[in-house]
Amino acid sequence: MNATDDKTIVREYFNSTGFDRWRRIYGDGEVNKVQLDIRNGHQQTVDTVLGWLKADNNLAELSICDAGCGVGSLSIPLAADGAKVYASDISEKMVTEAKDRALETLGNAENPTFAVQDLESLNGSYHTVICLDVLIHYPQEKADEMISHLCSLAQSRIILSFAPKTFALSILKKIGSFFPGASKATRAYLHREADVVKILESNGFSVQRQSMTRTRFYFSRLLEATLQ
Ligand code: SAM
Repeated sequence: MNATDDKTIVREYFNSTGFDRWRRIYGDGEVNKVQLDIRNGHQQTVDTVLGWLKADNNLAELSICDAGCGVGSLSIPLAADGAKVYASDISEKMVTEAKDRALETLGNAENPTFAVQDLESLNGSYHTVICLDVLIHYPQEKADEMISHLCSLAQSRIILSFAPKTFALSILKKIGSFFPGASKATRAYLHREADVVKILESNGFSVQRQSMTRTRFYFSRLLEATLQ
């Protein structure tokens, strides 16, 4: 399967069965045990990023690009804390849901701004570019291109998360839990940290802060890298 196929499949998935599944996981309604575990793991990743950015005490001065924003789990709290947020996602359904949630939570439709756009076609320049739990949908070569493109949009910092290859066996065993039933059409790709760091460094960025979220069914390595 080539990368274009991956992208088409991912877009279709997040506009159909994937939308229903992830909207529930990224919500607060009732879900099954596996989905609850993934919800809690993902929330830890979001909370770590929020913790890092809040600790810097300059959120209100930052422009932030949230690439592959999903239902706005990170974009909405960042906007609530004063950052100017440009959120985008390849899935129209995810973006519509994110807009609804932002309006409900924040009471305005100005910040974040939302767009239906794949991250490869994003342009502009942002203090910080963030891309959480998106690379899992793409093989390393494609992920390298995506990371390089995201680096080109970042004036100062990039924050990425990915499923690390170190946990390959445990993840592969549980892969059915990531994408159960019909949605198994979507593959989960693992990435070697060394490969991700190498591509960041080749774009002039060096890792500053890192974190790992590991629950039973959710694995996410989080890196913050700044332009040197
Ligand atoms: N980043 C969000 C979060 O952590 O809450 C959502 C993570 S969700 C597992 C992956 C998201 O990436 C989906 O909303 C999907 O539509 C989006 N996505 C996948 N490929 C993309 C691409 N090439 N460009 C933009 N968004 C993409």
